[in-house]
Amino acid sequence: MTATPANLLDFDLEGLAAFCETLGEKRFRAVQLFRWIHQKGESDFERMSDLAKSLREKLKGAAQVQGLQPISQQESADGTIKWLFDVGGGDGIEAVYIPEDDRATLCISSQAGCAVGCRFCSTGHQGFSRNLTTGEIVAQLWFAEHLLRKRLGTSERVISNVVMMGMGEPLQNYAALVPALRTMLHDHGYGLSRRRLTVSTSGVVPMMDRLGQDCPVALAVSLHAPNDALRDQLVPLNRKYPLAELLDACNRYLAFAPRDFITFEYCMLDGVNDQPEHAAQLVEYVRHHAGRGVSCKLNLIPFNPFPASGLLRSPQPRVQAFAKMLSDAGIVTTVRKTRGDDIAAACGQLAGDVKDRTRVGERIARQRTITLHPAQPRHAPAPADSAAKGD
Ligand code: SF4
Repeated sequence: MTATPANLLDFDLEGLAAFCETLGEKRFRAVQLFRWIHQKGESDFERMSDLAKSLREKLKGAAQVQGLQPISQQESADGTIKWLFDVGGGDGIEAVYIPEDDRATLCISSQAGCAVGCRFCSTGHQGFSRNLTTGEIVAQLWFAEHLLRKRLGTSERVISNVVMMGMGEPLQNYAALVPALRTMLHDHGYGLSRRRLTVSTSGVVPMMDRLGQDCPVALAVSLHAPNDALRDQLVPLNRKYPLAELLDACNRYLAFAPRDFITFEYCMLDGVNDQPEHAAQLVEYVRHHAGRGVSCKLNLIPFNPFPASGLLRSPQPRVQAFAKMLSDAGIVTTVRKTRGDDIAAACGQLAGDVKDRTRVGERIARQRTITLHPAQPRHAPAPADSAAKGD
C-alpha cells in the first residue's frame, strides 16, 4: 500500500527540516522548499528551479502542497472579501480579507464549527465538527496572500495582519495552531510580527498559559460580559474558567506578550450586556482586579443579528454611551467598524446565514455548481480576476 503523500503545508520550518531528513536531504534544503511554498506560493515541485532534480523527484512521490478548495468568493463594496473553503465531509470554513488604509487583515478559522457554543455566535450555533489541520489553517493565508498578490500585480506581501478570529476556538486546537503560527511568523514564511498576529480566545485558561510559553503572539479575549452570571450564559466556557481566573491568566500572559495590553472583545447585545451598570462593572474589573487591574484595550463590536440567536444589535447611541463610560474611566476603547455587512463577513460571526452543518453541506454542493470554474486548479491559488482591487 502506498503511503499518503505528506502535505507540506502541515509543517513549520522545523517540521519541514525533519521531513527533509527522512528523505536523506540536508536540513538547509527545507529553507529553500519553505520559501518556494510560502513566499512564492508555488505548489509544483517541478517549478522550484533551484532545488536539485533528485530532490524534486523524491518530493514528487512523498509529498504534496495541498491547499484548500475555494467554493465561493464574495466581495463587499468596501473591499472586504470572504471565501468559503471546502474542508471535506460537508464542512465549510471561511476566511475574510479586510483591507484598510494602513493595514490588510486576514481573519482565519481554526476549526470546522466550534464546541464553545457562545450564544451570540452563528458558528457556535452550528456545533463542532472537527479541528482543522495545521495545513488547513495555513492554507487560508497561503491562498489569500498569493491570490491577492496576483490580483494587485505585486510580489510584495499584501496581508500585514492575521487574526485567528474566524470559526472555532483556536486554543482548543492547540497542537495544530502552534506550527501554523510559527509558519506565519517565520522570516522564510510570511514574516508577520508577533504584534500583528492575534489569537482570539474565549478564555481557555491553561492553553493561554501554554501559548505564552510556546509562541506568544498578540492576544484578544472574548469577554462579552462583566460578571460571571451573565458570562455563564453568553460564553458557556466561563462556567469552567470564570472571570477572575481568566483575568489572572491575562496578567500572566502579559509577561510574555508582544504588546503591553490584552484586547478584550465585547459584543454589544441590545438590553443584555449594554447597560450603564455593565459598563461600571467592567471598569471595576479592569481597573481593580486582584488589586492591580488588567492592562487592556476594549473593543466594542456591533452584533450581527442572526435569527437563531434571538438577540439584537445595541442601538448606536447606547454603544457610544457605553464607550464613553469606559473612556472616561481611562480605558482605551474602540468601536469596531462594521465591514462587509453586505456579505455577512463579521469576524467571529462567520457563516452568519448557516444554521447547522447539514445546511453547510447543502450550501457547499449548491455553491460548487454555481461558482467554481471548471478549469480552476484544485489546491492552488485561483487566477487573478478583473474585479481586483486597484485594477
Ligand atoms: S465566539 Fe468563538 S469561541 Fe464562541 S462559539 Fe463563536 S467561534 Fe466559538
